[in-house]
Amino acid sequence: MSEKVLITGASRGIGREIAVSFAKRGDELILTCNKNIDMLRDLGESLSSEYGVKCRTYSCDVSDHEKVKELFLQAGDIDILVNNAGIAWMGLLTDMDIDDWRRVIDTNLGGLFNTCKYAVPVMVRNRKGSIINISSVWGSVGASCEVAYSASKGGVNSFTRALAKELAPSRVRVNAIACGVIDTDMNRDHLDSDELNALEDEIPAGRMGKASEVADLVLRICDGPEYLTGQVITLDGGWI
Ligand code: NAP
Repeated sequence: MSEKVLITGASRGIGREIAVSFAKRGDELILTCNKNIDMLRDLGESLSSEYGVKCRTYSCDVSDHEKVKELFLQAGDIDILVNNAGIAWMGLLTDMDIDDWRRVIDTNLGGLFNTCKYAVPVMVRNRKGSIINISSVWGSVGASCEVAYSASKGGVNSFTRALAKELAPSRVRVNAIACGVIDTDMNRDHLDSDELNALEDEIPAGRMGKASEVADLVLRICDGPEYLTGQVITLDGGWI
């Protein structure tokens, strides 16, 4: 049976591939992004025409609580929430200013509070639902020059485990995927080709992960047993 899926940060990268995967199985989509709304609209139109699915697109900054509240008023009941929107900031902690710190934490971690605040009551009422948070291996082990990002994703991991315990009695599942290096703009924007090659040499699988591989795992978690909850599943080619 078709489900209603809300995916944040679907204009590019991992979120875009997750949207494609759900469209292929015929689900109804609500897709969001921050700035690239034209790109997201084009994606929505192509998924609707190619797979015949209903698809709505919105520009909604996940760190803006009021905007997220409005989004959920329009979205109605959803079955699956994928918290994918995220940003990186690289540099020494002492070079980071307070606005950048807040932007990373408010987007990567605060965004989960904002979406879950409105998604959870609906799921609890319906006694079904699945929340999947896209996290990072840096949330588990920390990365030099990515302290804010690592702290935000460590928060995502704890948020996942704690909310899963709160919602398991209501049959709502909460899981996270801790990604290694995935080939998207996030890395291309911050690393040059020599740095990317050096990074690939460190990964036992010998390559970056594909956004489609993350999307594949998201669907498998959604289709997995109801007993699978509170897990942070690492997808990193054996890296960490
Ligand atoms: P990406 O290619 O940079 O795409 C980021 C997406 O998030 C875009 O759709 C962007 O929208 C959206 N976004 C950013 N800030 C937002 C905000 N405030 N409100 C709403 N949407 C926002 O990144 P990606 O690599 O696909 O990353 C997706 C997720 O995977 C992130 O949570 C990231 O931390 C995580 N992750 C990625 C990697 C990796 O190696 N790529 C590794 C570990 C974890 P616009 O297009 O409008 O800007």
